[in-house]
Amino acid sequence: MEWIPLVDLQAQQAEIYDDISVEIKDVLTSASFIGGPAVRHFEVAYAGFTGTRHCVGVGNGTDALELALRAGGVRPGGEVILPANTFVATAEAVARIGAVPVLVDVDPVHLLIDPDRVAEAVTARTQAILPVHLFGQLAPMAQILEIGSSCGAVVIEDAAQSQGAHRNGKVSGSFGLAAATSFYPGKNLGAAGDAGAVTTDDPDIAEQVRMLGGHGSSSKYVHDVVGMNSRLDAIQAVVLSAKLKRLPRWNGLRREAAARYGNLLAGVPGITLPMPMPEGESVWHLYVVQVDGRDRVLEAMHKSGIGAGIHYPTPVHLTKAFSYLGRGMGDFPVAETAAGRILTLPIFPHVTAEQQERVVASLRHAVAGA
Ligand SMILES: *Cc1c(COP(=O)(O)O)cnc(C)c1O
Repeated sequence: MEWIPLVDLQAQQAEIYDDISVEIKDVLTSASFIGGPAVRHFEVAYAGFTGTRHCVGVGNGTDALELALRAGGVRPGGEVILPANTFVATAEAVARIGAVPVLVDVDPVHLLIDPDRVAEAVTARTQAILPVHLFGQLAPMAQILEIGSSCGAVVIEDAAQSQGAHRNGKVSGSFGLAAATSFYPGKNLGAAGDAGAVTTDDPDIAEQVRMLGGHGSSSKYVHDVVGMNSRLDAIQAVVLSAKLKRLPRWNGLRREAAARYGNLLAGVPGITLPMPMPEGESVWHLYVVQVDGRDRVLEAMHKSGIGAGIHYPTPVHLTKAFSYLGRGMGDFPVAETAAGRILTLPIFPHVTAEQQERVVASLRHAVAGA
């Protein structure tokens, strides 16, 4: 029985192999490993893709968040509002600055940050709002931006799961003062290792990010602030440029795969499907359904060779790492209930119809028996 993984990146690698082999050789020959023309080329291309003026490549998505928040003026003791239902890195970036992650609940339909809860969480210490475009879907940016401007907080997007998602012609990564994205291999746009970027229209923010990520230095051996080392490698930039050219097609294939799941699962009892978003608003980083008895369903699917997953089993406030925030069970009921019911089905650009049919057969069987 063939194992169907949650994400299969091998077909993507095969598509770009010829493109990158010459350019990687060039990087090795030039010995320009950090920064240099390949990085510059990718930064310009990715800024163009998101419709922003500036892109700064950095070491990974978590660093991108930390650097964007710092450049946006977040300081130790400041409060940053973010959803309880996200990958832990969103909160981690805030905590690393010494700022306070202020968690809020999500909406029950899309499981995205709930603007009403954001408005309630604003205090005089709020310095930033950090919406997450989770599972490939855009957060409700119009409302978030309005709350940000009325309370004087900057809005920084966590765009790690949403490369290419767009709403009314505006692309993920171009809504806030700045956005952080991750090119972790499994993201829609993934490197061959760790990488990330900050996008912004603001030249000062871009310069700050570059300075902070380059040891707090704007000219060699002059260090004005304590920065960090977070830069994009040239080899990663080569891989990313080759994949970026194909990303619109790959996102289209994800959309087709999501539509196929929608058709195969329509009317199947006991399975709540993700709400389809208007064309373009989701790039289907993850396809997340909800079921009762999720743990048993997941186990049965694993036994039948399906690599289904959970994103994420523990909301941020219930992790040990963030127990110091003093929030507990019952504080964010939507995120908590969802955490026990969500189930991620395998989705990636090259998933085949036959694989999806097997996933659905396994899921139906498991749900009927759970
Ligand atoms: C992947 C991810 C990150 C962190 O990115 P890394 O490159 O792994 O540091 C942050 N936020 C979200 C929502 C993510 O999915």
